[in-house]
Amino acid sequence: MTKLILNFNSKQSKSIKNPKNFLGGKGANLSEMGRMGLPVPPGFTISTKVCEIFYKDKKKLNNNLISQIKKELKIIEKDVSKKFGDLKNPLLLSVRSGARVSMPGMMDTILNLGLNDKTVNALALKTSNGRFAKDSYRRFIQMYGNVVMGVESYHFEELIENYKLTKGVLLDTDLDENDWNGLIEDFKRIVKEKTKKEFPQDVFQQLFGAISAVFLSWESNRAKVYRKLNKIPAEWGTAVNVQSMVFGNMGDDCATGVVFTRNPSDGSNEIYGEYLINAQGEDVVAGTRTPQYITKKARKNAKVEEPSMEESLPKVFNELKKILKKLEKHYKDMQDVEFTVENNKLWMLQTRSGKRTAKSAVKIAVDMVKEKLISKKEAVLRIDPNSLDTLLHPTLDENSTINVIANGLPASPGAASGKVVFTSEEAERLTSMMQDAILVRVETSPEDIQGMHAAKGILTARGGMTSHAAVVARGMGRPCVSGSSEIDISYEMKTFKTSSMEIKEGDVITIDGSTGRIIAGRVSTVKPEISGDFSKLMSWADSFRKLKVRTNSETPKDTKTAKDFGAEGIGLCRTEHMFFDEERIFSVREMILSKTKEDRALALEKLLPHQRKDFIDIFKIMSGLPVTVRLLDPPLHEFLPRTNKEINEVANIVNLPVKEVESRIEELHEQNPMLGHRGCRLGISFPEIYEMQCRAIFEALAELKKNNIKSAFPEIMIPLVSTEAEIRIMKDLVIRTANQVQKENKLKIKFIVGTMIELPRAAIKAKEIAKHAEFFSFGTNDLTQTTFGISRDDSGKFLNDYLDHKIFSVDPFVSIDDGVSDLVQLAVERGRNQNKKIKLGICGEHGGDPNSILFCAKVGLNYVSCSPYRVPIARLAAAQSQLNIRNKI
Ligand code: PEP
Ligand code: MG
Repeated sequence: MTKLILNFNSKQSKSIKNPKNFLGGKGANLSEMGRMGLPVPPGFTISTKVCEIFYKDKKKLNNNLISQIKKELKIIEKDVSKKFGDLKNPLLLSVRSGARVSMPGMMDTILNLGLNDKTVNALALKTSNGRFAKDSYRRFIQMYGNVVMGVESYHFEELIENYKLTKGVLLDTDLDENDWNGLIEDFKRIVKEKTKKEFPQDVFQQLFGAISAVFLSWESNRAKVYRKLNKIPAEWGTAVNVQSMVFGNMGDDCATGVVFTRNPSDGSNEIYGEYLINAQGEDVVAGTRTPQYITKKARKNAKVEEPSMEESLPKVFNELKKILKKLEKHYKDMQDVEFTVENNKLWMLQTRSGKRTAKSAVKIAVDMVKEKLISKKEAVLRIDPNSLDTLLHPTLDENSTINVIANGLPASPGAASGKVVFTSEEAERLTSMMQDAILVRVETSPEDIQGMHAAKGILTARGGMTSHAAVVARGMGRPCVSGSSEIDISYEMKTFKTSSMEIKEGDVITIDGSTGRIIAGRVSTVKPEISGDFSKLMSWADSFRKLKVRTNSETPKDTKTAKDFGAEGIGLCRTEHMFFDEERIFSVREMILSKTKEDRALALEKLLPHQRKDFIDIFKIMSGLPVTVRLLDPPLHEFLPRTNKEINEVANIVNLPVKEVESRIEELHEQNPMLGHRGCRLGISFPEIYEMQCRAIFEALAELKKNNIKSAFPEIMIPLVSTEAEIRIMKDLVIRTANQVQKENKLKIKFIVGTMIELPRAAIKAKEIAKHAEFFSFGTNDLTQTTFGISRDDSGKFLNDYLDHKIFSVDPFVSIDDGVSDLVQLAVERGRNQNKKIKLGICGEHGGDPNSILFCAKVGLNYVSCSPYRVPIARLAAAQSQLNIRNKI
């Protein structure tokens, strides 16, 4: 039978398959360090299985467990030649939590357990250090009183602070044995007063109370919140580590510290950490004393006088350095280590993989390949693709003061500060005056594109992760916080309110699109640095992936950015975005307001040269690579003016009475525009619009050909198809226009025609549609919207409720839902069944999401397409998907 409580030296722990699952991260690593022959204070781990039993037994430790714990305790006593509760040489214990993954500060720890009114005197005698013994006892009462008995810490701290005031000293270290003696009595009195119970003197009662408290802390509110945020299942439970105490607070040849084997913020290969002479573990993290540097170099860089560990404890420092090397070699990863020095003897208390910044993660992975510690595959698998976001955008300087006033969705990463404006015009005006603006809108519409471009960042009160604001901002690389229901915007008053504050137009705020934070005032940012290591890692990733990575882009600037990030073509060029340019919007409006086909043709003629020029620029940048151009998709009313001022302006330009413009706007109004007159339905009703767009594409290609300039390979895409007839008619239109342009220019142009699959019917009827399509591009934004019947722009209002009720584990507009992916898979199979060579890709926002990319790789798509700033993330995720498929993960 498997033992549920294991000594660190137990042979059994070596044969456990997933030691971290059973012993928790801390326990597994303590026993591994023990086996490596490193100095680990003797102890044992009460496994996570016991946590489960504890909760089943109504939060009690049963007799069987109690006798096993007592047995293990005997082994420790023998190892260290001390006895628990002894009046001559008492053994003291630390009781610490340890879940499968580290949950820093979330669960409880108790140190110096085993001290009482009598053993404290024995400890004083044995160590000839009365002050140390008393200090340890008061720490124990404080910790136990708080964690196990529920007395708020501030009661104890208040007593110490008041006492120091009366004595006229500043630091705890200024208090002597007698002072602590008095405080111990005060502490016990407070415990009695607050809990109506005496502080326990029975050491076994202390031990079982502490172990139970650690198990109970698994269900504390803070642990629950942390689990939810980090997707840690409640059933994992925590283990408890009971270990013989070693003391860093016995004098000046004692110390305690935390050290990383490499620098966790920039990844450089030098140990980095902090320590304190004559202190216990919690002093380093508590901030009551300023910790000192471990290495001389770090101390000198920081220009401080207090000696580093390298200088004050050189022998122990060298021993620690050797152990850190050994640990890195063993774990093949950067380690975060806790240690204590007791009378010049080094003890290792913990090791785990160290948390690090994305920059540091990339450097460490690349360096470890050079050092032959890990393979290129391991390096590629080690980096969280989403973390690369922080490398590609400016981020907030977390060392500055940050006053968060509200939160929203982290829609487009990066941080930006600027003056609040509520209209696109104002954003443009400020920008033209060289001032930074943050555009704050209830939601954005295509009309706002110029303002979004001009602004440094975008904040919206409504809309989800695929709302207009989010998609466009990501495409532009503008930081964006969307769907913040915590802000209340009044366009009329030109203000927005949060629960704590009112912000007026012109006030400066900062938004953090990587976390969703909205912050009062300006916060300094740190610029991204794309280093050589980054591109090296990317090149390794590229060698492992099969999926191609394209970009969603429609401007030369974004296309260039994406190409620089490694995009292998454009998977979606949304041509409507090209219509919003100031010069063109009037021609677009003229075209929409035209009553006759002839008038419309005249307006379209004005648009043609602009579109042609756009395509020439983009085709040149993506030379030799595929570019999917999608014909007009959104309903026409989106292009029409809204305010009275705009309506008057348009009426003037198109020479129509204001009333007529208004009635046309009324006519075009739709109750449900997302399900209305949009996509290829526009092409069916107004073929001349699509003809103009095709002509612009083919004329651009003809011009490049005539000038012997290598162009991109065009793929013409028809949006929102749901029937075979739609794609057949639209394909005819494209081919007819191509033939005309070819004939006029006396040359041949190569191209293909395909469709988006973004409606459930299209997925189901993929076989028929594939008769006329040379490619499918999955528009999973609309496909998610229409499969669920949930509006992509309004889901933000209730998404949190759905996440809270575990109806969704993740926003389906961010990571592909398995019902939607079933439809994609069905369409892939049916499409390939009709046409073996059909090209398959995805251009919905999911194309940049690592989990969805794994699905795309599994289902055998040819490429994913995502916004420019997500291209590196997709490259890495595609490589990891391929490696994981091979490893059958
Ligand atoms: C989609 O629907 O997934 C898509 C890419 O098109 P759009 O977001 O422009 O509707
Ligand atoms: Mg769509």
